[in-house]
Amino acid sequence: MDYSSLVLKQKQFFLSGKTKEIDFRKEALQKLRGAIKNNEQQLIDALKADLNKSEFEAYTTEIGILLEEIRFTLKHLPSWVKPQKVKTPITHIGSTSYVYPEPYGVTLIISPWNYPFQLAVAPLIGAIAAGNCAIIKPSELTPKTSQLLSLIISSIFPREFVAVAEGDVETSQALLNENFDYIFFTGSVQVGKVIMEAAAKNLTPVTLELGGKSPCIVHEDANIKIAAKRIAWGKFMNAGQTCVAPDYLYVHKRIKEDFLLHFKKATEELYSENPLSNPNFTRIVSERHFNRLQSFLNNGTVTIGGNVNKEGLTIEPTVLTNISWDDPIMQDEIFGPILPVMEYEQLSDIIEGIHNHPNPLALYVFSENESIQKEVLNNISFGGGCINDTVYHLASPYLPFGGVGNSGIGSYHGKGSFNTFSHNKSVLKQTTKFDLPFRYPNVKDGLKKIKLFLK
Ligand code: NAD
Repeated sequence: MDYSSLVLKQKQFFLSGKTKEIDFRKEALQKLRGAIKNNEQQLIDALKADLNKSEFEAYTTEIGILLEEIRFTLKHLPSWVKPQKVKTPITHIGSTSYVYPEPYGVTLIISPWNYPFQLAVAPLIGAIAAGNCAIIKPSELTPKTSQLLSLIISSIFPREFVAVAEGDVETSQALLNENFDYIFFTGSVQVGKVIMEAAAKNLTPVTLELGGKSPCIVHEDANIKIAAKRIAWGKFMNAGQTCVAPDYLYVHKRIKEDFLLHFKKATEELYSENPLSNPNFTRIVSERHFNRLQSFLNNGTVTIGGNVNKEGLTIEPTVLTNISWDDPIMQDEIFGPILPVMEYEQLSDIIEGIHNHPNPLALYVFSENESIQKEVLNNISFGGGCINDTVYHLASPYLPFGGVGNSGIGSYHGKGSFNTFSHNKSVLKQTTKFDLPFRYPNVKDGLKKIKLFLK
């Protein structure tokens, strides 16, 4: 596959200046919103076919969340695009200073399979808002949704503006051979490194939205009933195939049994007592992923769930206890509906355990005590997270979403997306009415005068 002519066409289109016009950007976002609305049922059907997502999950996590992101972007875009006047120091007397947000040019968006529509389109909203062209490479593991994405995009945008390149790793690699102005990647840590290496050849800036093991801590003073419900919701949504799902639980020894009783009840309320016969329970994306998850079921002790349906690729919401960091399930991100639970007595023990591993993408702490909340926030580095909730931070356009260290580079959502896809061009506008002499090396006592200012 050769994408050089497509990239060239996009570069030419970008250079025409069209994408920089604010009306063009707004119209494009409106078209995108219209197309998502018009294809709502087709999207729900495609997500059902690819992952057995329920209509509720499809709408809330893939469709509604994008409509809200577009609404927010359209509302604020006129103020975001304006050059920002900033202060000018006394040493620069006579001049004014501005920061001009400008688009990078032709961007590449590579997305994963777990929220196959949302994770392809959310970065596109930022790319368009900031005035760029884009090529999207969606996941090959959710073919129906990727195909529909391609149809939707080609029905509203010319390829020289936004194009979808369907395909697998080879397509991705062929695209990475081209010289993009920005690369936005969502996926695994391992592939994130491949992307950054490819980008380095052309010094292309990147955003890497990666994954990792996100801890969830339930302290002894937590509101146990609410904690149980919110953790079950965040963990088992999309069958645990969510980058910010609580990966594992640290629960205080004193409340562990009580918490697990509430957790079982909350899970049954959300997905019935027999989730495997619930037609709306999301399945695991492929047999390979299913087998990997199934192999974890003999780690520790199965305390809740544990049943699987191999034909339907479904796994019951499951809790494993008697788990330690040495178990296979604790080596990598789980990405499935299995929650390993460890207990603790001292918060400092947990902090040390987490420090010995790469920075998580998310962290959740349930406690009513502000000093406990602060201790966790001050001592652990993580991408983002919640106090007394799970996953919800991701849906706020006011909170830039991204990782740190191994969980990623950069962030997006809301203005964060506009910033990500914009270069901040700093410009000093100087007066010609006068010319301060002591900046020049040939002035008498110049150095002495400069030292009055630069000290
Ligand atoms: P992945 O890294 O396997 O694939 C992501 C994309 O990269 C796909 O489009 C794929 O075709 C492409 N790709 C795969 N191998 C490649 C290679 N060698 N060279 C170039 N491109 C390649 O990830 P996945 O399995 O689709 O998604 C799951 C991972 O994504 C999890 O680790 C999860 O935590 C992470 N994730 C992160 C976020 C976030 O916002 N931070 C969101 C969702 C998923």
